[in-house]
Amino acid sequence: MSTHRELGRGERVLPGLWRLRLPLPWPGVPHGNAWAIAAGSGVVLVDTGYFEPGSMAQLTRAMAQVNLRVEHVRLVAVTHAHSDHWGQAAPIVERAGCELWMHPNHAHATETADDPAATLARRLEVGRQSGVPAAALERYAERFSSEAASGIARVIPPDRPLVDGVRIETDLGTWEVYETPGHAPSHVCLYQPERRLLISGDHVLGRISLYYDYGWTPDPVGEYLASLDRVGVLDARLGLSGHGRPFVDVAGHVEGARRLVHERLERALGALGRGPATALEIAPAVYDEPLSPQNASWLLSETLCYLQHLEQAGRVAREAGDDGAVRWSAQP
Ligand SMILES: [Zn+2]
Ligand SMILES: [Zn+2]
Repeated sequence: MSTHRELGRGERVLPGLWRLRLPLPWPGVPHGNAWAIAAGSGVVLVDTGYFEPGSMAQLTRAMAQVNLRVEHVRLVAVTHAHSDHWGQAAPIVERAGCELWMHPNHAHATETADDPAATLARRLEVGRQSGVPAAALERYAERFSSEAASGIARVIPPDRPLVDGVRIETDLGTWEVYETPGHAPSHVCLYQPERRLLISGDHVLGRISLYYDYGWTPDPVGEYLASLDRVGVLDARLGLSGHGRPFVDVAGHVEGARRLVHERLERALGALGRGPATALEIAPAVYDEPLSPQNASWLLSETLCYLQHLEQAGRVAREAGDDGAVRWSAQP
């Protein structure tokens, strides 16, 4: 863990639209964005940042830099229920006295938020299925228990489901909701068509990076590709994503993400060309990077998502062994 944590920072992107850059405790992902949009006497806040000791002070600091206060928030809308986007919703809503809008498929987050044991059990199951040896899983379990932090202040139910057809009124015009599952089952993008602004959450990022929640829906990769098609036709001019700076050429970034998905699917298939293998055996080839205790849980669940997608397309088949490990083989 880095000892030099960044500080919350606010900056104006356009008149009436501010980026709030909030620090994260994750190596490699130093910060995430929340977006404040002028709306009448206050602002709509899209995403909230991660919850941990001091995180409200970081948000307050970022807002103060652009002359805003948490009490100005009239509505919290959440792009998806990952802790870095939704973790701080409860204290903000409480302090501002406003509503929370979020997509209803948030079980991937809310069912495990208060239950680290359930989160660990899911991860161990991913490890077992992937062919990780029992001793390594035991070591993982020991480390997990001592580091567990959900990043979520408290689970509160959304006041309104953020689904297709919902509109968010702001001084910059009306934002339309587009359901975009894949990165997370609860993911939505918000689009302002006159100004062609896309709040893209983690669906499309300025620096392309792919992630799927494994185990909540039948085919996260297929959902993700369909969601890329959805936003690819919007003709957005500026992307406002969950991490990193605003970016132009949104269509190019959508295309880049699609290419990377297909590249990883091909790599997974290619890695099975030498015979049946577990996710553990092929993950380094899919990602072109060795597995480590830090990245294993993530890379294995992603690899399982690719295999699941290929299975649905009839291109691979699985066979479960007595040890719980699943071996995958390419289909002719
Ligand atoms: Zn996310
Ligand atoms: Zn994120």
